[in-house]
Amino acid sequence: MSDSVFIVTGGSRGIGASVSRKLGIPGQTVVVNYTANKAAADAVVAEIEQQGGKAVAVQGDVGSEADILRLFEEADKHGGLAGLVNNAGVVDVSQRVDEMSVERLNRIFTINVVGSFLCAREAVKRMSTKHGGQGGSIVNLASAGSKLGSPAQYVDYAASKGAIDTMTVGLALEVADEGIRVNAVRPGIIDTELHASGGLPDRVAQVQSKLPMKRAGTADEVADAIIWLMSDQSSYTTGAILDVSGGRAILP
Ligand code: NAP
Repeated sequence: MSDSVFIVTGGSRGIGASVSRKLGIPGQTVVVNYTANKAAADAVVAEIEQQGGKAVAVQGDVGSEADILRLFEEADKHGGLAGLVNNAGVVDVSQRVDEMSVERLNRIFTINVVGSFLCAREAVKRMSTKHGGQGGSIVNLASAGSKLGSPAQYVDYAASKGAIDTMTVGLALEVADEGIRVNAVRPGIIDTELHASGGLPDRVAQVQSKLPMKRAGTADEVADAIIWLMSDQSSYTTGAILDVSGGRAILP
């Protein structure tokens, strides 16, 4: 019997790397997607192989439809797709909306929203029982920013994650009787390199005393929630958006 295949977009660092490691157990093949840092992706693949799982690193920008099609074709070579973690996402430097360029807005929405839609499309084509598939699970990475709006920082990013909230609910209902569950996790402030990429390398240290638990979350803490949503343990859960924020922004 061939392995169940899982695609983790942005699986080479941060939350995605933790998810990849946790999915990389015997009987499962993990497709570890990345854009630029091949060494980080190769290191995650090596860790998975050491623990007896199978993995392959596949370069590809989820902001490009051609790259997404190639990513899924690579995954097809390893067995039937059982799950997608729509994890790749980007922020930009802190700006007010009246300062944002169209290039910035297009980049944020193309990667965070269009990329997640296109990956979900390809996953549904393969996993839906309507298309002859065996069913599966999709988990999207939303953000507490969708409730907070992230003023004077990145309203564009927050709004892109609001789109992910809505996509999660709509797609979940669209494929609920086709064997596919679609859920999201909504992280708060998690200690990864994402903040440095948005020009705020000290963000965690600066804000942690203001967080309900007085600390940021870890990539592993978010990954554990994702793994539950990916697994049969959550077999009656679909369309759910799970706050993994240590109590931050839990009110509507
Ligand atoms: P991260 O540490 O910055 O890692 C990002 C990962 O995504 C890397 O593997 C990176 O690969 C990959 N990536 C970036 N752009 C990509 C693209 N265009 N196509 C494919 N892969 C791409 O991020 P993170 O903190 O783990 O965040 C993961 C997800 O959680 C994101 O969707 C983020 O919005 C969401 N989230 C994070 C936080 C937080 O506080 N960290 C909070 C809420 C939500 P390369 O290294 O090759 O570029």
